[in-house]
Amino acid sequence: MSRTAGRWFVSFTVEVDRDVPERPSRRQRAGGPVGVDLGVKHLAVLSTGQTVPNPKHYQRAERRLRRASRAHARSKPGSAGRRQRAAQLATIHVRVANQRHNGLHKLTTRLARSHDTVVVEDLHVAGMVRNRRLARAVADAGMAEVRRQLAYKTRWYGSTLVVADRWYPSSKTCSGCGWRNPSLTLSERTFTCQSCGLVLDRDHNAAINLHHLVAASTPETENARGADQKTRASGQVAGKREPGTATAGQTGGASPRGEAA
Ligand SMILES: [Zn+2]
Repeated sequence: MSRTAGRWFVSFTVEVDRDVPERPSRRQRAGGPVGVDLGVKHLAVLSTGQTVPNPKHYQRAERRLRRASRAHARSKPGSAGRRQRAAQLATIHVRVANQRHNGLHKLTTRLARSHDTVVVEDLHVAGMVRNRRLARAVADAGMAEVRRQLAYKTRWYGSTLVVADRWYPSSKTCSGCGWRNPSLTLSERTFTCQSCGLVLDRDHNAAINLHHLVAASTPETENARGADQKTRASGQVAGKREPGTATAGQTGGASPRGEAA
């Protein structure tokens, strides 16, 4: 039993026998591979071009969270008012977290059930440490959670999870011709290719690049399942990486992969 923000929770552990499908059932899975780019403004953008919105009421709850946070900061330290505001703040925090969590669960279930292969990015550990902005932290926490959920749900539903290399420049690469824009900043919401002229929503472009990672090598990875997937996927991605890219990503403080993605 636990208590969070004034609410009590009781947890149970149960053992469930679950049939793990031997191979993806093609009947249900017309989707093929899908690339997923997690966002802040939207929950995710898929390589299919579909934008998955944040849960209903999420934005409103976030505004209330900001207001409550300011009210708490303004209150007098040690006062009864401050204690009350801290309690209010905690309650809203939990509600916002629950809403996002719920949205992520719906997303991952849908992805694992309707696609052969789901491609996500690796967690931006470096970017997370460096960037203290709340929005980025939320997105990174979401990414870790999405990966965790997809890892077991793809096993449940017989699909495959592929995790892209951490330094794979999904946001900076043109999904049409492969041209790279090394100076792409986080504030540029549209990707404009200076080589082939492609103009596309930044997140959609990134999602398509993730999709390309497996689309080119699907016959090889089709039967890959379980623990060896990560290794195989990473190997493929590493192979595609151009010389020097990893170094540039690791040392380029101004525009590291973690912040620009
Ligand atoms: Zn291009």
